[in-house]
Amino acid sequence: MYYILKGEPKPIQYIKGVGPARAKAFNKIGIFTDIDLLYYFPRNYINRTSILTIKQIYTRLLKDNFYFTELNNDLKEEVTLLCKVVNKSVKTSRGNKKYLIVNVKDYNNDEANLIYWQYPDYYEKVFERGQYYIIYGTPSIDYQKEVTFHHPEFEPFDKVEEIEFFKGKTIPIYPMSSALKSGRINNKVLRKIIYDILPNTIEKVEDFLPENIVTELDFRDLKYCLKNMHFPEDVNEIPKLKERFKFEEAFVFETLLAHFRTKQIDIEKAPTFDKSNGIIKQFLKSLPFELTNDQKKVISQILTDFQSGKPMNRLVQGDVGSGKTIVAIFAMLYAKVNGYQSAIMAPTEILAEQHYLTISNLLKNFPAKIELVVGSQTSKERQIVAQKVKSGIVDIIIGTHALFEGTVEFNNLGLVIIDEQHRFGVAQRSKLRELARQSLDNSLVPHFLVMSATPIPRTLAMTLYGDLDVSTIKEMPKGRKPITTRIVFEENLAKMYEFIRSQLKKGHQAYFVYPLIEKSEKLEIKSATEHWKLLQEKIFPEFNCGLLHGRMKSDEKEEVMRNFKEKKFHILVSTTVVEVGIDVPNANIMVIESAERFGLSQLHQLRGRVGRGTAKSYCFLVTSSKFNLDRQSTLFDNSEGKLALARLKAMEQTTDGFKIAEIDLRLRGPGDILGIQQSGLPPFKYINLATDGEIIAKSREYAYKIKEIDPAYKSHPKLKQILQKVINEKKYFGIG
Ligand code: ADP
Ligand code: MG
Repeated sequence: MYYILKGEPKPIQYIKGVGPARAKAFNKIGIFTDIDLLYYFPRNYINRTSILTIKQIYTRLLKDNFYFTELNNDLKEEVTLLCKVVNKSVKTSRGNKKYLIVNVKDYNNDEANLIYWQYPDYYEKVFERGQYYIIYGTPSIDYQKEVTFHHPEFEPFDKVEEIEFFKGKTIPIYPMSSALKSGRINNKVLRKIIYDILPNTIEKVEDFLPENIVTELDFRDLKYCLKNMHFPEDVNEIPKLKERFKFEEAFVFETLLAHFRTKQIDIEKAPTFDKSNGIIKQFLKSLPFELTNDQKKVISQILTDFQSGKPMNRLVQGDVGSGKTIVAIFAMLYAKVNGYQSAIMAPTEILAEQHYLTISNLLKNFPAKIELVVGSQTSKERQIVAQKVKSGIVDIIIGTHALFEGTVEFNNLGLVIIDEQHRFGVAQRSKLRELARQSLDNSLVPHFLVMSATPIPRTLAMTLYGDLDVSTIKEMPKGRKPITTRIVFEENLAKMYEFIRSQLKKGHQAYFVYPLIEKSEKLEIKSATEHWKLLQEKIFPEFNCGLLHGRMKSDEKEEVMRNFKEKKFHILVSTTVVEVGIDVPNANIMVIESAERFGLSQLHQLRGRVGRGTAKSYCFLVTSSKFNLDRQSTLFDNSEGKLALARLKAMEQTTDGFKIAEIDLRLRGPGDILGIQQSGLPPFKYINLATDGEIIAKSREYAYKIKEIDPAYKSHPKLKQILQKVINEKKYFGIG
């Protein structure tokens, strides 16, 4: 939260009703003053129209994809329920374990159950018959088809509130924590404290958003928003009020980005590439296909960057197979025409070699000299290449991280391209850039292009790569057939095998992939090997099955892959090593065994191995019956099963890598995605990276516009004050 203070904040311990013990509890959750309290917003509001009834919860649970179409799109989403305890009893399960079941009714007289397995006797004493409670928890439907909460949080609703509620009043529910409870602060206490300080405290804060933004985005004024966040006149207004605070947060963040970025751009210069010499047209003509509109768009964006004299800093993201390589080749050829070298770095040797072959092939009629730099070269080979690179006779250098490991010196590296950028750390990327800068006599910096096949949701791209322009290739090349994806439970395996047999008979090929078995490569290989035997000997004896796993030597692997490519094998049984680099258009079936063990992006990457040819493709997600969650009675018994099912369903529902990435983000939270936890996501308080993309985009637009028109923030003194404060307190998330 950001604000301009007019008066003095009041320390929390001097607020009426607080005192030392409660002050300590507040401090534990970061509340030190009345202003902090002012910005401590309710998590929910209780009135007859704003909370779910038991009947509504029931209906939603039965809906097939309740868990990822919901309100906050949060799989683990809690609901809030207001209900009266009608009965409670401690029972013994068949496994001889004691548990407490509390029967509750909402004000429509529909029933639900709360179950406590831990400390049943304790909870039995806590709940009072006839008393109303506010319940927070994740509901499920039990085997008797009743709505059930396991170990939900709860708070008694007192008599006065009960009366107000039934009169139609809206009651705020604040986030609770054990810290607050330890200071004997419950919701009722908190409501009273906040209600009392509100009028005075609101007068102490001032709006810092530029007026035109408030008008154009139709925000209510700050004071109104603050008051109504706590005690709303109309709960339907809440989303709009929240939007303002989300916007403020994103706007300050983006303004900082704009600030630091402009500073950098002003001082750095890159070589200007403005000659084309007709070669580019010739190149585009020489391609065996027409570029997609998205490819053309990205190419023209790159051209604009090249001609500007300022360094390009661009992320090109597009799903597997969307055709990013062509874009890279175009850029490198353009650099060559303008007299500069370019380098492309890939995360694995297989990928680097593949690029080498593709690029050499597509540029065979063009005057561009291409070389490969990888770790497995002998030092002699490397020396020869290095000499050529240094002398400047090489135009395009393709390699792995071997590129920046000291043996290669560039002549004039004007363009650096990183493929599959998320596999490289920030340090590795900047090493290559530094080498480029040296090769440009330290007077210029190179143009920089990163490519990612793991589409990152817009919101994440904008925050993670705030210093990069983002180009997106959404459109797939023409002629790609959609891939049909199905979850297959083990009891239906026979049917699936028959279907695959019929496809193989038509001359197609299939992959069978077995999962990583945690911490045991041995077991993983055993599982794949055993299944390979089973498939070869028992199920598909009339076809040839190849086996591929991580322990094989690289020439063995290549041999297997080549045989599969040349159709000597009809089936390729593999561990996840098949994820990277294989391109066999004739293979149209992907079977993923124990699919529940895979992460969503990994499933998507694996599926990307098929659908590359002209035949219709299929992806089967095989899962054991433990996970057989009958669609009708959706019995989500544990959170892991729930998440697994959500992943598999997402795969069934879409082949769009961006949607998949977004769902993945929701299921796992941004921190886990792509292993980017180190890169420091901004710790947003109000913004939800999975769902607030539009707000972030808007805030970015305004932030950059202001920076452009009024770089010193002369007409926005309050905004300037906020910026200075954030910068002074070094709270700028490592952007600077
Ligand atoms: P990725 O974006 O995953 O790196 P690639 O650049 O490897 O994708 O392209 C995948 C395949 O699609 C390649 O065989 C490439 O030649 C082909 N391709 C690229 N662009 C087009 C296009 N516009 N029309 C048809 N095929 C294309
Ligand atoms: Mg690629």
